[in-house]
Amino acid sequence: MRTIDRIYIDGQFVLPHGTELFDLHNPATDEVIGRVRLGDVEDTRAAIAAAKRAFASWSRTTKADRLALLQRMHSAMAAKRDQLIEAITVEYGAPVSRSSWMADHAATSFLDAARALEKYDLIQKIGTAEVVMEPIGVAGLITPWNSNASFICNKLAYALAAGCTAVIKPSEMSATQTQVVLEALHEADAPAGVFNIVNGRGDVVGAEMTANPDISKISFTGSTAVGKSIMRAAADTMKRVTLELGGKSPTVILEDADFATAIPLALQAGLGNNGQACINGTRILIPAARTDEAMALAKTYIAGIKTGDPRDPETMIGPMVSQTQYERVERYIRVGIEEGASLVAGGEGHPEGLGGYFVRPTLFANVTNDMTIAREEIFGPVLCLISYEDEADAIRIANDTSYGLYAYVISSNSQRATAIASQIQAGRVSINGAQHDPEVPFGGFKQSGIGREYGVFGLQSYLEPKALLGAVRA
Ligand code: NAD
Repeated sequence: MRTIDRIYIDGQFVLPHGTELFDLHNPATDEVIGRVRLGDVEDTRAAIAAAKRAFASWSRTTKADRLALLQRMHSAMAAKRDQLIEAITVEYGAPVSRSSWMADHAATSFLDAARALEKYDLIQKIGTAEVVMEPIGVAGLITPWNSNASFICNKLAYALAAGCTAVIKPSEMSATQTQVVLEALHEADAPAGVFNIVNGRGDVVGAEMTANPDISKISFTGSTAVGKSIMRAAADTMKRVTLELGGKSPTVILEDADFATAIPLALQAGLGNNGQACINGTRILIPAARTDEAMALAKTYIAGIKTGDPRDPETMIGPMVSQTQYERVERYIRVGIEEGASLVAGGEGHPEGLGGYFVRPTLFANVTNDMTIAREEIFGPVLCLISYEDEADAIRIANDTSYGLYAYVISSNSQRATAIASQIQAGRVSINGAQHDPEVPFGGFKQSGIGREYGVFGLQSYLEPKALLGAVRA
C-alpha cells in the first residue's frame, strides 16, 4: 500500500513536520488504497514563507515569463493525462468519461489562463490616471474532493498569470490525484516557492492559511458552511476572498420542449459527476399538465442508467466519495420519503449487486419547493421533479432558493428560453444544453459564493488596481 509522505515547499518535496496519517479509500470497494501524511501549522507557515519570498520576484515578471511557465505547466499536465485519469477513477470513483474530462480540464486550465492574460492590459489609462493591475500577493488556494486536480490547476493557473504566488491546500481525501499534479508541475521548472502544496486538514492547514497575515487572498471551492467560516476568519486580515460554494440548481423545462430529449438532458445535468457536482440541476421544474409524461420518461431513462464500476466506459454513475457521503445521501432519501415525496426511481440502500459507497440513482416526484430535499444540497444522485403552473410560477420556484450557482432552461424556442434564463438569479444559465466555456465567468449569486473564476474575471480576482495620478513614463 502506498504512503504519500511528501509535501512541496520552495521547489522541494519535503517530509512534513505533521505526523498524522490519513487513509485513502477506493470508494467502489471501501478498500484502503493508501495513506497520506498530513502537514500541520508549522508546515503551512513554511509554505507561506516560501511563497512570500518568491512573490518578490514573480510579481515583477513580464507577461512573456508568465506565459512561458503556463505553457510548460500545460505540457507537463498533459503528459500525465493517463496517470491522472487512473488516480481520479480509483480514488474518487468518477466514471472514466468524467475523469477524462477532469484530467483534460486540469491541463487546459493553464492555456485558458494564458489566453486571458495575453489579451489583458495590466496597465490601463482611465480618466487622468494610469491604473496598474498589480498581483494581490500570496494566494491561498483550497480545493474540495469532487474535482480536486482540476480545481488545483485552474486556481493556480490564474493566480500565476496574475503574478501571485500560491500555497495550495488540496482536499485531504484526494492525495493520490494531488501527487500526480505535483509531480507534473514540478517538471515544469517553476521558480522555487512560486507554488507550494501542503496536504492537510481544513481546520489545521486551511485555518492557518485563512488567518495568516502573509496570505492576501483565499480562493476556496467547497461547502457553503466552510465558505462562511473562511469569510469570517478572513475579515481579521482583510483578505480578499473568492468563494465557490454549493448549489441547488433549477432545470426549467418549458411546456413547448420535446420531452423525449429534454428529460434525458435534465437527468444528465442532475446526475453528472455521480451527482456530486456543485452545478448539478437537482430541481427539475416541469409544467403541471405534463407531469405524468415527465415521470414516465424519467423512469425509463433512469432504468437504463448503468451504475457501477467507474472504469467501465458504459458507466454513468460511480460510487459516492466516502462512507460519510454515502450516509448523507441515504439520509436525504429517507427524509424525502418521510416528507411525502413519491419515489419514481431508486430509493434507499445499495444498488443490486454493488457494495462500496454506491447509492441508487433516485428521483422524487410530487416534491414541493419547501421540502428539505428541494432546499438543501444533497450532493448525490438524488433529484426532484417539481411541477409549476405557468412561466411566472416556474421563475418564482427557480429563484426560491438560498443558492444561485447555476440553472438550465430547456425549450424548443431558444428566444423564449433566453427570456426565462435572464430572469433566473444564477451565475451561469445554460440554455438547451450543459455547455462549458472557459472564457466566461463562473461563480454564484446569493449563498453560492462571492466572486468569479475563469477568463478575465478569474484573472482580475487575483489583481488589485492601483491608480497612479500624474504618472509620467520615460
Ligand atoms: P468542504 O467545504 O468540506 O471542504 C472543502 C475544502 O475546504 C477541503 O480541502 C477541506 O479540507 C477544507 N476545509 C474544511 N474546513 C476548513 C476550514 N475551517 N478552513 C479552511 N479550509 C477548510 O467541501 P467538500 O465536502 O470537500 O466539497 C463539497 C462541497 O463543495 C459541496 O458543497 C459543493 O457544492 C462544493 N463545491 C462547489 C463548487 C463551486 O465551484 N461552486 C465546485 C465543487 C464543489
